[in-house]
Amino acid sequence: MATLEIRDLHVSVEGENGPKEILKGVDLTVKQGETHAIMGPNGSGKSTLAYSIAGHPKYTITGGTVILDGEDVLEMEVDERARAGLFLAMQYPVEVPGVTVSNFLRTSATAIRGEAPKLRTWVKEVKEAMEALKMDPSFAERNVNEGFSGGEKKRHEILQLELLKPKIAILDETDSGLDVDALRTVSEGVNRVRESGQVGTLLITHYTRILRYIKPDHVHVFADGRIAESGGPELADKLEEEGYAAYVKGGTSE
Ligand code: ADP
Ligand code: MG
Ligand code: MG
Repeated sequence: MATLEIRDLHVSVEGENGPKEILKGVDLTVKQGETHAIMGPNGSGKSTLAYSIAGHPKYTITGGTVILDGEDVLEMEVDERARAGLFLAMQYPVEVPGVTVSNFLRTSATAIRGEAPKLRTWVKEVKEAMEALKMDPSFAERNVNEGFSGGEKKRHEILQLELLKPKIAILDETDSGLDVDALRTVSEGVNRVRESGQVGTLLITHYTRILRYIKPDHVHVFADGRIAESGGPELADKLEEEGYAAYVKGGTSE
């Protein structure tokens, strides 16, 4: 069973007045088969955590460790992290002009699996995954994220998740900007992948609404760069009623 272990992680970004510490000692363990929801107010550092694990160069690790199956993730290049089984669905997916969805998916799958998927089974796999996510087949020939609606971008992230079959999936606000139908479709996709029992999921979200469709095993409240409280699904119910005020300095919350 794959295990992602984050220990005392400290991360800074370069600000106008020098480096600014965003993550202030994050501890978290995610095992294959588990779903952890990370919930917190805007600006608390949730995306910073996601990007730091994925290896975004803007984030400087100033302390702590991230270990996947005994391997030091922080020593790996971004592509090595993906091959090791880490996957990030971004809060704001980027456009890749000139690269079609179809080519992008096949290139990614080839890089991660270490060999090109057999064409016939691959075509079938892609077609089935797209149908399940209610994506029109013509979508495969469009350029990655170019002119995609918010919902299309998020479906495309989950399409990658379904096809790339990571060990650990970090989903950063996959629910934001989705209407109810799209939220349900995207959640069903995440749940299909979870049902395999082969993925550990870190579901980052600001709102409790996605947790009606994706039931987490563990819920963590993220505030001011660290985990302020951990619990079971009941913690999400408490947040739904009370918001984040109790966790935020000055008592304001969004
Ligand atoms: P969340 O995802 O919880 O909303 P973020 O991780 O996006 O929070 O941001 C946490 C804090 O770090 C914010 O104050 C934000 O302005 C700052 N921050 C994040 N990324 C950068 C960056 N690349 N450059 C400068 N500041 C950043
Ligand atoms: Mg945010
Ligand atoms: Mg964010």
